[in-house]
Amino acid sequence: MDIPKDMQDKLTRLRKAVDSREAEAICLAYLALRKSAATNGVQAREMFELADRALSRPAANVIICAFAHRHCPMCQDGMTECEDCEGAGVLNDGRNCLACDGIGMTSCDFCRGTGWAPPAMMAPEIAPGIRKKQQFVDVEKDLADLKPIMLGSDGRKEGRLTTEQRRSLQRWAMRLRARLNSLIHDEDLDLNTEEKKRLLQAVGELDAYLATLRNVHAGK
Ligand SMILES: [Zn+2]
Ligand SMILES: [Zn+2]
Repeated sequence: MDIPKDMQDKLTRLRKAVDSREAEAICLAYLALRKSAATNGVQAREMFELADRALSRPAANVIICAFAHRHCPMCQDGMTECEDCEGAGVLNDGRNCLACDGIGMTSCDFCRGTGWAPPAMMAPEIAPGIRKKQQFVDVEKDLADLKPIMLGSDGRKEGRLTTEQRRSLQRWAMRLRARLNSLIHDEDLDLNTEEKKRLLQAVGELDAYLATLRNVHAGK
C-alpha cells in the first residue's frame, strides 16, 4: 500500500527517536504515529508492520521498553521538593523537618513515589503486562544493587555518612519501596505467590533500612 506522507514522517521520527535511545522521545514519536494512523484509517496491525520495517526489528519490544522507562513529568525520580522546609531538610530554627524526615524531598503524589509515568500517560494497546514485566526486571536489578549496602548496615556505618550521602540513600530506598509496592498491587503483572512474597520481604527490609537511616539522622 501507499504510505500516507504524514505517516511516513512519523515513522522517520520514530526511527530517529529509537536511534537516540531516549525513552521520552520514543514514547512521543509512537504516540504521534498512532495518532497519524488513526487519522489515515490505518489499522494497528498494519501500523506495527510499517514500524517493524522502519526500525528493521520488532517495534513493539522497543516501544514497550520505552514506556516502561517513561518518567513521571511531575517529579525527579519519584520525589518532589518538600514544601515545609523548601528542600533544606531542616526548618528555620534548626530543627529537623518532620514532613520529609530531613531528606528535603517527599514522595510525588502523581506517581506515588515510583517516578514512573502514570497509566494516563501510557498507550493502552502497549501490553501493560509486558511493560510491567520490564519494570519488574528493572526493580529486581535495582534491589540487587542496594541489597549489599542494606545488609552491611549496622547503624554505625550510616553515622559516618555525609548528609548528602544519607539523603541520596534514603531517596533511593524510598523510590524502590514505592516501586515494589506498586508492582505488588498490580493485577496486570500477575505475580505468582513466591514472587509476591519475595517483593513483600524486600519492602520489609527497605522499611528497616530507612528506619536505621532516620535514627542516625535523628541522633545527630
Ligand atoms: Zn522537609
Ligand atoms: Zn512523580
